[in-house]
Amino acid sequence: MSYDLIVIGTGPGGYVAAIRAAQLGLKTAVVEKRKTHGGTCLNVGCIPSKALLHASHMFEDARDHFEGLGIGVSAPKLDLKKMQAFKQEGVDGNTKGVEFLLKKNKIDAFIGTGRIAAVGQVEVTAEDGSNQMLQTKNILIASGSDVTRLPGIEIDEKVVVSSTGALELESVPKRLVVIGAGVIGLELGSVWRRLGAEVTVVEYLDRILPGMDGEVAKNFQRILSKQGFQFKLGAKVTKVEKTGKGATLTFEPAAGGAAETIEADVVLVAVGRVPYTQGLGLDHVGVQLDNRGRVLTDAHFATNVTGIYAIGDVIAGPMLAHKAEDEGVAVAEILAGKAGHVNYDVIPSVVYTFPEVASVGKTEEELKSAGIAYNVGKFPFTANGRAKVNRTTDGFVKILADAASDKVLGVHIIGPEAGNLIHEAAIAMEFGASSEDMARTCHAHPTLAEAVKEAALAVEKRAIHM
Ligand SMILES: Cc1cc2nc3c(=O)[nH]c(=O)nc-3n(C[C@H](O)[C@H](O)[C@H](O)COP(=O)(O)OP(=O)(O)OC[C@H]3O[C@@H](n4cnc5c(N)ncnc54)[C@H](O)[C@@H]3O)c2cc1C
Repeated sequence: MSYDLIVIGTGPGGYVAAIRAAQLGLKTAVVEKRKTHGGTCLNVGCIPSKALLHASHMFEDARDHFEGLGIGVSAPKLDLKKMQAFKQEGVDGNTKGVEFLLKKNKIDAFIGTGRIAAVGQVEVTAEDGSNQMLQTKNILIASGSDVTRLPGIEIDEKVVVSSTGALELESVPKRLVVIGAGVIGLELGSVWRRLGAEVTVVEYLDRILPGMDGEVAKNFQRILSKQGFQFKLGAKVTKVEKTGKGATLTFEPAAGGAAETIEADVVLVAVGRVPYTQGLGLDHVGVQLDNRGRVLTDAHFATNVTGIYAIGDVIAGPMLAHKAEDEGVAVAEILAGKAGHVNYDVIPSVVYTFPEVASVGKTEEELKSAGIAYNVGKFPFTANGRAKVNRTTDGFVKILADAASDKVLGVHIIGPEAGNLIHEAAIAMEFGASSEDMARTCHAHPTLAEAVKEAALAVEKRAIHM
């Protein structure tokens, strides 16, 4: 069998690249070692975590907020087995959707581990050990990432879990300790806190959400603390010892000092993800990796070996599903002779807690370190009519605009629907808008989006409702 393109891995990067390549007339095949398509994102990442975030948010709303809205219900009872089944149905619906799309686009799908045997050759080994050799003009590595492990801390996915185990817990832990205050730790910590766990987050750095705007992170930490999260920042975990039913976690100040311990029923290790290149045969064909184990690519997603490309979590850049998807489209277009391109300055990122946190473009810290003068416009949700009436007033919108040209350089939102609101900013930035362009755009009343307009007005100190 001979193809124009073989994609290894059907996560958001790989399956989207395959569909776009097929649309453009390339004879395309995919190889996936999981039994289902959709990669980390659909199987054990974005989709199941958002299902549990949604269900646990509903549970908490019914328990704590319905009464205030004049809705009398008896205290909700948690049926975790059913909630997990709800999550799984969502996952199955999505992974089957990808299978359907691959068939619809006449893409051949091989289930098995793909290894690059030589330039233009991919060997697929099925679970039963049988294998076949496929021929192709181009190979796309879209093998994604895996959880980062901490030396000496063994993940058993029962007591010491990764994000995958944290999505599968069969009972609510009384005490959950999360190692790492990044997006995944805070999202999954929120799920189990809402369902009844006491959650402590232990983080090596002296702040949460590294990489996000510092003011946003500080405010968000305050909101999470109000919700019941405990934080141990600037703390280095040195040991996790399993006890009878749970674990004892030992940590010490990152700057040095006396060690402390905390008892946990479950410990979630959420310290990031690493590129996954195992078993691909990259050594053998001479594909170069960078110093962090990522496949090294040029601006056109080409590796150093002709005919071999890479996208998504396995290459540099933010480990986000939509970044992988956009790279998938771009590389397919490049292979079909078109001008595929990704604008890395405008990639939104969202933390799907309540309230949500969303950002696009530069943070204040990045602008300061680049020496770029900027103006700030900020508007709190306490002054937004819709947020007030809904009683969801935690958070604000912050817009950073170039001091000389007024071009919008970054937008950061904590608040209800922040993950949807951020796209107004992304579109504006993609079109090179100024804060005045955003401020002059009529926004429907009463909407949360009016807070974005007011923040844009606030850049020139002319917000109306503040
Ligand atoms: C708990 C969690 C929540 C997340 N939530 C979000 C979110 O809300 N939004 C967001 O944008 N991102 C989120 N992410 C990150 C997101 O899942 C990844 O950025 C995204 O999946 C990367 O896509 P990818 O296609 O590069 O790789 P992956 O999705 O990792 O897919 C790679 C695929 O390649 C397969 N593979 C690997 N090697 C081989 C081989 N040799 N042969 C055959 N197949 C192979 C793997 O089995 C896998 O299916 C989350 C991640 C986690 C863990």
